[in-house]
Amino acid sequence: MSHFDQLLSAELASIEAAGLFRRVRRIGSPQGAHVMADGRLLRNFSSNDYLGLANHPQLITAAMEAAKRYGAGCGASRLICGSMEPHHALEEALACFKGTEAALVFSTGYAAALGVMGALIGRGDVAILDKRVHACFVDAAVLSGATLRVFGHNNLDDLARKLRWADKRRAVDPALSTHSVARRRPRILVVTESVFSMDGDLAPLREIVELKERHGAWLLLDEAHATGLFGERGRGLAEAFELSDRVEIQMGTLGKALGAAGGYIAGSRALIDLLINRSRSFIFSTAPVPAASAAAQAGIELAASAKGRELSGRLWAVVDLLKNRLIEAGWPPGLVQSPILPVCVGDEAAAVGLADHLRDQGFLVPAIRYPTVARGAARLRVTASAVHSAEDVSDIAAVLGRWKANQIE
Ligand SMILES: *Cc1c(COP(=O)(O)O)cnc(C)c1O
Repeated sequence: MSHFDQLLSAELASIEAAGLFRRVRRIGSPQGAHVMADGRLLRNFSSNDYLGLANHPQLITAAMEAAKRYGAGCGASRLICGSMEPHHALEEALACFKGTEAALVFSTGYAAALGVMGALIGRGDVAILDKRVHACFVDAAVLSGATLRVFGHNNLDDLARKLRWADKRRAVDPALSTHSVARRRPRILVVTESVFSMDGDLAPLREIVELKERHGAWLLLDEAHATGLFGERGRGLAEAFELSDRVEIQMGTLGKALGAAGGYIAGSRALIDLLINRSRSFIFSTAPVPAASAAAQAGIELAASAKGRELSGRLWAVVDLLKNRLIEAGWPPGLVQSPILPVCVGDEAAAVGLADHLRDQGFLVPAIRYPTVARGAARLRVTASAVHSAEDVSDIAAVLGRWKANQIE
């Protein structure tokens, strides 16, 4: 073994010893209620494909037609020659769906987070993040060069404290704007998610909006797990709370309930024009393929249609049933506010043991461990989808119930 591989193998051994080793599972079928994983048919309770659009005929047809008409690739970044018709059509559909002046699409949600934070804040500014936001915002904040502050998860008193600190700092220290690369008034950006990806709980959006306004801060709201699911038209939690026009930066992904791939930022025309000029992950990256953009557009149109609202109704019925079955099985999921129902195990090895057991019983629900969640907070992240049957739901709850009974014995 080369010295290089020896060093890496030692590191891998320590990951394994901590119960944190991860491997990818090869899926040989489309996404859906059932998937072929490593050659076996498994019932899938781990996807973010909440409405079952990832394998929907309307999205597949849209992707195929776009590939036939515009080809497989884009040739360059959007600013060179890759800004193709399907990108523009998708952005118009997104702005219309979100009810904003404009929208911009990135190849992933991760890239959208890096791009938007890097464009809006830098040295001398402050980013204030909820403790449980997605890793992409931590990376984006660090990369931006802004000062990073973290407030306790959904803890409004702590957020108010951090906002007061940041606001006072820019009032008393005129030197800050000289330090700032842009030589302007220091900015404060609050970042939170509408539905938290690993816990499934909601942010207290109204209170957060009021707090950030009191301190002249901006809000970046990630609707990754709310887009297509919340609000009368499926726009997200900001719509449900009637706060859309008080959130400066609305972000989301096209790869979850919307069934395709990509990330987006929706907001004012000025915001989008600034991103086109300043977002490095937009400027220095090849445009998403036409098929992905066309599929995402079909996903938005479907989610916003009567059919989409019906799928969403079916999803919430599955969520309700799953919640009740889990309670009966001795796994009360706490306050259920979304299709994400964490089955908290705690110990990393025990969570992996339970995930293995579920796989033996024909269910796909990987264990979620550090660093995705805190150490000792390992869990199975069980997610509901509109495509699950009542039988699927009862069966997984029964397996979980039996496992728990055996542990206690
Ligand atoms: C999935 C996710 C992202 C990243 O989006 P990708 O398109 O998968 O890169 C960002 N934020 C949250 C909350 C997510 O769950």
